Parts: sequence; structure tokens; C-alpha cells
Amino acid sequence: MAFSEDTKRELARVIPEERCCRVAELSAYYDFDGFLFGDGKYLDFYHFTPLIARKILTLVKSVFPTAQTHVLAHRARARKNQVYTVRVSGPEEARMIHAAFRNQSFADAERRILASVCCRRAYIRGAFLGRGSVTNPKKAYHLEIFTEKYEVAEKVLHNINAFGLEARMTTRKGDLLVYLKDGDDIVTLLNLMGAHNALMHLENVRVEKDMRNRINRLVNCETANVEKTIQAAVEQIDAVERIRKHMNLSDLPPKLAEIAALRIENPYATLKELGEMANPPISKSGVNYRLQQLIKLSKSLG
Ligand SMILES: [Zn+2]
Repeated sequence: MAFSEDTKRELARVIPEERCCRVAELSAYYDFDGFLFGDGKYLDFYHFTPLIARKILTLVKSVFPTAQTHVLAHRARARKNQVYTVRVSGPEEARMIHAAFRNQSFADAERRILASVCCRRAYIRGAFLGRGSVTNPKKAYHLEIFTEKYEVAEKVLHNINAFGLEARMTTRKGDLLVYLKDGDDIVTLLNLMGAHNALMHLENVRVEKDMRNRINRLVNCETANVEKTIQAAVEQIDAVERIRKHMNLSDLPPKLAEIAALRIENPYATLKELGEMANPPISKSGVNYRLQQLIKLSKSLG
């Protein structure tokens, strides 16, 4: 969980420069947990952690400086810690903010993909800060954002995938879950949201994991080679033993006799080593050729 919290702490400090993006980020909090009520007199950003509530308040004040704001503390049943509601009071301000959220321009109105890339990034950041989490990359590559509202889940999904990522949607205990499982996609999304420290951490873990995998592959490969060598030696020794049942090794042509004897005496030696023991020394392929002849001979003897 620490990785997720660190990522959020980092993102909570990211204040978009442009007004459009501030509105976009606020609209994400509002989409997930916002209400206009009391005949349009109040607008709430409902139940956020202190970290996020503070950010919402900062953004609201910077974009709508005339808005009257209050912060209400609750002790939520489902959560252990105190949560906060940021409330905007006054019919004009509440309606104005509500209208600003509704009047954002969309590149794709039906799927509600925000028109500007900058705003799309801000929206995703808000969604993640409000309702997202990311798993420690040492355990798994997994980033998710949840909501109980279908149209919000779809909006998040489409805005993420507008960047060429492959987020998917599923359900969990009545909630809709938009999630990413691919390490590359998660890195890209962290980058888009502006979580550069988190991104760096994830990349380091990836390099470490990758290195470990590569070492494991090498070790496995080496083991496979050793096994192959041993198997070959067993076959060669079998061949010599079978020949021995039919004749004395000394009856073989001298070059074959020499290698047959060396193989029996040095069951663990590699072909190269056997070649060096021969008198005069011969190449690895020379050793192989003679051993193949011995195997052929043994087969012909039955
Ligand atoms: Zn923008």
C-alpha cells in the first residue's frame, strides 16, 4: 500500500498550470463523489481524505475565487480515518461550477473524451487520486480506479485509452473497476498523471525483476546444457560397454580404441577435454566423430 500512498502524495502536489486543467481535475472528483443539492445552493465534493480534500480546496479557490467554501469533517463508517467534504455554498457559485464541469469540450462527446490532452491528463489524475490505487510493483503490475457509476467508469476508461493504453473494465462486489495490468501501460499512465518519482521507482523494480529473470534464464539454460552433455556421455559409455561384450577394445582401430578407453576412464570429461587427453591431441569435432563411429559400431553389434 505504501507505493500507492506515495504515488498519491506525489500527485496531490501536482497543481496544473492551466485553468482548463484545474477545472478538468475538479470535474473528475465531482464525477465520482460530487453532488449539487438544496435546489442548486450547495455543491459538495463528498468524503475525501485530508490530502485530497486540501487539494480540492486549493483548486476550487484558485479557479473560482469568489466561491464560499467550507470543509466538513466526518468520521466515515467504512473508513478508519476522518474524511472531509469540501462544500461550495451559494446558488450562483454552485451553479457556475456545475456549469463549468458540464461545459467542458469533448473530442468525442459520446464517449466523453476530453478535447485537450492537458485536460485529459488532469482528469485521469483526479480520478486516480479520488478512487484509485496502484499495487507495489514488486508484487504485481496493477493499477485500478473504482466507482459504482457506470458512465463514470466508461469515461475514465475512454480517456485513458485515448492515450493508446489498454485499460479494461470489470466488476468487483458491485463496483466497476477500470484497471491496467501491463507494466508499460502503468508507467505511461504514471507519466501522464505527473507521478515521476513513482514512475522511476517502478522502472527500477522492473529493471531488477528483468535482470533476475534473465539470470534465471541463463542458469536454466546452463543446466540444460550440462544435462545434455551428461546424457551424451551416458550414451557413449553405453556404446563402449556394448562393444566390450563382443571384443577387446584393443581389437578396435587404434584411434577408436584410444577414445573408447578415455571415455570410460573420464565419464565427466567434455569432448574438448577428451581431445586434449588424446595422444596426439585432437579437436572436439575429431573426438565427436570417433565417438559417433563407436556408437554406430555398437548398434551394428546389436
Ligand atoms: Zn487543460
